[in-house]
Amino acid sequence: MYQFHDIIFLTMEERRKKSLGANFDFPPSVLDEIQKNIEDIILNFDIPEANKLDVIHKINFMYSQTRYMSVTDPLTGLYNRRHFEDNLEREFLRAKRYKSDLSFAIIDIDFFKTINDTYGHSCGDFILKTIANLILETFRKTDLVFRYGGEEFTVIITETSIENAIIPLERLRQNIEKYNFVYEGKSIKNISISIGVAEVNDECQSVHALFEQADKALYKAKQNGRNQIMS
Ligand code: GH3
Ligand code: MG
Ligand code: MG
Repeated sequence: MYQFHDIIFLTMEERRKKSLGANFDFPPSVLDEIQKNIEDIILNFDIPEANKLDVIHKINFMYSQTRYMSVTDPLTGLYNRRHFEDNLEREFLRAKRYKSDLSFAIIDIDFFKTINDTYGHSCGDFILKTIANLILETFRKTDLVFRYGGEEFTVIITETSIENAIIPLERLRQNIEKYNFVYEGKSIKNISISIGVAEVNDECQSVHALFEQADKALYKAKQNGRNQIMS
């Protein structure tokens, strides 16, 4: 049985592995059983001594599943947008307070709509999952990778100046450009990403400003022909 610790304290690497497999699967029958158990506790307050541990385990199990789902994007296994917002704010405040370097990148897949239209939505999902894994493999365990929305990812690159953040970002861009995406035996060509990157500096006065700066840079990268990084 999964315990609280098994799920909440997954490393990025473990999340990546899980996302490669099938879904993070909890049988509904177990959830129903847990719910019934909670009802029983509330109604009776009288659980036989022998069953107490079992009930506690089941409640922990349900709680950990809820926690996991609340911070995780089900398709890619990455952290989701809700978790992103909490983390960007915290890392921004930390960088300001301790005057540490902090870079932030938004990554957007180029012409993703065309990929869906040409090869189908499930192929699009496969590309999303593969790119999510390539992004995770690129960054350090101390960096944080999120699925922000549809085909957009964000990366919080801690203790790193923009010059040094561009190094792994450029490696990622090149890896994706030359990666051989094979879906149902077919090679999917011309997959690329555009990246906008920004850093916390004296002019950057709010988390909102940091996000806007990266977003504007991404827009420039798109305008300038895509498959590139702009700051
Ligand atoms: P650009 O280079 O300007 O970014 O063009 P684009 O086609 O990537 O951008 P646009 O915003 O027009 O399209 C994004 C597409 O992403 C449209 C939407 O159907 C697709 N999408 C969003 N979420 C998912 C998903 O979970 N799975 C799949 N397969 N497609 C998705
Ligand atoms: Mg987009
Ligand atoms: Mg796009």
